Amino acid sequence: MKTIGLLGGMSWESTQHYYQAINEGIKAQLGGLHSAQIVLYSVDFAPIEKLQHEGDWDGCAQILAQAAIHIQDAGADCLLICTNTMHKVAPEIEARLHIPLLHIADATAEQLVAGGVTRVGLLGTSFTMEQSFYKGRLHEQYGLDVLLPDEADRALVHRVIYQELCLGTVLLESKREFLRIIEQLASQGAEAVILGCTEIGMLVEQSDTSVKLLDTTAIHAQKAVAFALRG
Ligand code: GLU
Repeated sequence: MKTIGLLGGMSWESTQHYYQAINEGIKAQLGGLHSAQIVLYSVDFAPIEKLQHEGDWDGCAQILAQAAIHIQDAGADCLLICTNTMHKVAPEIEARLHIPLLHIADATAEQLVAGGVTRVGLLGTSFTMEQSFYKGRLHEQYGLDVLLPDEADRALVHRVIYQELCLGTVLLESKREFLRIIEQLASQGAEAVILGCTEIGMLVEQSDTSVKLLDTTAIHAQKAVAFALRG
């Protein structure tokens, strides 16, 4: 079995779900007392969130690349950045590593393409929804048409992520709003909706709606399990 490297803490509320999902995936495949070989480096999110909102992505890249090198040096065979948003600096991190980076948008897009989906809704931080590093990759590399909520709803989703979910607060009122936004994207033609932030699975799940949801935390974790067991 290969060793999975996790760059987590963004936020730790979602990283714990990676840890659980990866271990459950290994157990489901190998049974018994088997569990995943994981190297986890969990950062302090507060200074990173500050740099994000100041637009200092180079500062973010430096902190995360250094952490990724520690993960590699500790024996990981691959790296997962356990957040959609920080894939903005994935190229800078990847350039410093010799182990492969398993990109969260690739893992998600592969499932969409395999399921025949061509038009998809995207929920995430405003960085993920509005900048090109994520939706551009989905469009250019996988031919997916990406639909976004309107400006007011993007602001709502962004606020709930940073002011509630990343702090471990799960509110029924926010869940209702997210489900309303998901239904609206579906009514505009989205065949599925990407939960493109690793905390959104804490708020909504597939049983809440008939719209097909792609939980990026679960999908990324599955990708890691497949990598660890390959060959
Ligand atoms: N975990 C979130 C994501 O998947 C947001 C926190 C962050 O800014 O990294 O985008």
